[in-house]
Amino acid sequence: MAGNGDTNSDTSGAVFGDERPKIGVLALQGDFAEHLNILRGLGVRAVEVRTLEDLAGLNGLIVPGGESTTIGKMMLSSGLSDGIRSFFYKGGPVWGTCAGMVLAASATTGPRQPLLALMPALVERNGFGRQVHSFEAELDVEGFDGAFTGVFIRAPFFESVGPGIEVLSRIEEKVVAARGDNILVTAFHPELTDDVRFHEYFLREVCDL
Ligand code: GLN
Repeated sequence: MAGNGDTNSDTSGAVFGDERPKIGVLALQGDFAEHLNILRGLGVRAVEVRTLEDLAGLNGLIVPGGESTTIGKMMLSSGLSDGIRSFFYKGGPVWGTCAGMVLAASATTGPRQPLLALMPALVERNGFGRQVHSFEAELDVEGFDGAFTGVFIRAPFFESVGPGIEVLSRIEEKVVAARGDNILVTAFHPELTDDVRFHEYFLREVCDL
């Protein structure tokens, strides 16, 4: 299948026969560029995902922060909703940050919006209050040595999670990082810091790379 998007926007040396793992970042809206930069720095092929074809051959997919209603509608109209769900239910690793965490949830406390429903979880959008647009918090994260600085921007949290979901970090009772077998969610933006531990965690623990 020629021209299937394998090399789109990949400036990190995607030459013929490149055997490195390939991670996609959904690039419909939001802060996908920062994820691509970090992934490339970690030595994997990182590609923008805008069409169904771009999902082919991925070893993992990041759904970035942005506006979950906008991203959700664009995923529906492009067919990527079904594509991502089928990638995920065949075992494809997915990481949702912020808006991506909203989209990963199975239900929201707010008005109806298109969700991917990859995780049994109830999400509260803008869960830290509308007036608090952004803040940073030092987080204890399960399995991490030392605190991780979470950058929260109109961030969601999980009010509750279903069976099979491991909570990795909370602020008080609010779940801000969690994982399932082949899914990771973070309410904050690791791509806006220079601490790459969550990207490494995703590649190592969730993508098995
Ligand atoms: N509040 C946004 C939403 O629910 C998410 C914000 C973000 O991704 N920084 O879509």
